[in-house]
Amino acid sequence: MTVIASAIDLDPAAVNELERSFRGQILRPIDPRYDEHRRVWNGSVDRFPSLIARCAGVADVRAAVRFARQAGLAVAVRSGGHSFPGLSVCDDGIVIDLGSMKGIRVDPETRTARVQAGALLADLDRETQEFGLAVPAGVVSHTGVAGLTLGGGIGWLMRKHGLTIDQLLAVDLVTADDQFVKASATENAELFWGLRGGGGNFGIVTEFEFRLNLVGPTVLAGPIYWPMEHSPDVLRFYRDWIADAPDELTTIVFHRTAPALPTVPPEIRGRLVVIVGCCYAGAVEDGEEVVRPLRQFGSPLLDLCRPMPFLTLQAMLDPSFLHGWQYYIRSCDVAELSDDVIDITAEHALQMTSPRTTFPIFHQGGALARVGEHETAFNGRAAGHSINVAAITETVDGFDEERAWARGLWSALEPHHTSVYVNFLMDEGGERIRSAYGAEKYDRLKALKRHYDPDNFFRLNQNIPPE
Ligand SMILES: Cc1cc2nc3c(=O)[nH]c(=O)nc-3n(C[C@H](O)[C@H](O)[C@H](O)COP(=O)(O)OP(=O)(O)OC[C@H]3O[C@@H](n4cnc5c(N)ncnc54)[C@H](O)[C@@H]3O)c2cc1C
Repeated sequence: MTVIASAIDLDPAAVNELERSFRGQILRPIDPRYDEHRRVWNGSVDRFPSLIARCAGVADVRAAVRFARQAGLAVAVRSGGHSFPGLSVCDDGIVIDLGSMKGIRVDPETRTARVQAGALLADLDRETQEFGLAVPAGVVSHTGVAGLTLGGGIGWLMRKHGLTIDQLLAVDLVTADDQFVKASATENAELFWGLRGGGGNFGIVTEFEFRLNLVGPTVLAGPIYWPMEHSPDVLRFYRDWIADAPDELTTIVFHRTAPALPTVPPEIRGRLVVIVGCCYAGAVEDGEEVVRPLRQFGSPLLDLCRPMPFLTLQAMLDPSFLHGWQYYIRSCDVAELSDDVIDITAEHALQMTSPRTTFPIFHQGGALARVGEHETAFNGRAAGHSINVAAITETVDGFDEERAWARGLWSALEPHHTSVYVNFLMDEGGERIRSAYGAEKYDRLKALKRHYDPDNFFRLNQNIPPE
């Protein structure tokens, strides 16, 4: 275990007092569990907070906020710990960690769920699928519900049911002056608008209420593989095929090295492949009809698209994005898969060197595009595709080269960038955050920030400064 003394001298009496009233745990750098709880998903992030406040409930969150304000500490807010740039941990400040608050209550009659902020997607899916229901969310089940929701939430169900925020009915929030505030369409409506895409700028969400949708429990889903050298042809076919795809079908294209999973035959493992991952959120037999032309295109190396539990699909990508690896990600939205985008993509894909690197290309449209661009703070509903260029290595070996590769692909696509999803940003600076929202939304969010957090107490995030 590595223990590094904090640069900030905290008043031990004040820390003890916080600890006495706390229902959860206060971890100091000397605590044996400190190292485990300061680590985040992205192993390239290595920071040492002065304290970690593992909250058990709203009272702990409010106490931690009060303490941080009085001590003048920087505040990182952590739920699932999956921020790409590791914004949920800091050096010297305090981590307000909601990871223990995982309570979920599903009401199958009203088709709603109350979800505490520390729940992971796996927790949410487990509870909702018990009733054949689901909240559309992300594609890796160890991601946190909170950070994902506050940025928007794209995933396998988005074309059928919309973004995660499109299901959001209400939130409970603790503000910078430790007030408990509720927000919904009818209560603090402007705050509710901003929370649907504006990230952690306005306070700490302690609980969400979601509308639930009927999903599965069996869906037609899974990946179809072709050799990566066939990518230009596969992508051209794919572009035409998805042009009139029904909303039930959401697909994601991956370029990567075929993984060594039990479902992948040994002769295919380790080959560079282009994959179309499918999810048909409707009747399986209808899905078979829709997917047939794709699986008949060219000669797929492997076709794993089949009826499966929605829960299986949701966990399918988990082993590809393990905790603790080195991650560097550059993202952009593009309007369409033009010939130029396809050719750039296919050419650069062949140059990736790490067997862990991949870059999902999410197909958007459908229900998410039918919600008005100004109804929520999320930007980019009109984009055709969201691209996530992820340089990944298991250790630092080769990470620099892979990062350079990711930058190269992202830059080559620059003439085609339209918007970018805030949850896919790294630490890219204020101008990029501003352009991610667009000037109009950014100004509206800034006004909201001035109202709820004029001192920018919550600034370790994709920050919208009040001034
Ligand atoms: C492996 C992986 C897969 C992903 N897949 C998808 C995907 O399919 N779809 C998608 O939309 N996104 C996806 N993402 C991006 C994801 O939405 C963001 O990384 C998100 O921030 C993760 O939320 P978290 O709670 O796990 O993160 P954390 O690191 O805990 O939080 C990230 C930030 O969110 C804010 N925040 C977190 N909790 C709270 C809270 N309770 N109140 C207020 N602010 C809070 C803070 O600013 C914090 O810095 C993925 C990320 C990873 C690492």
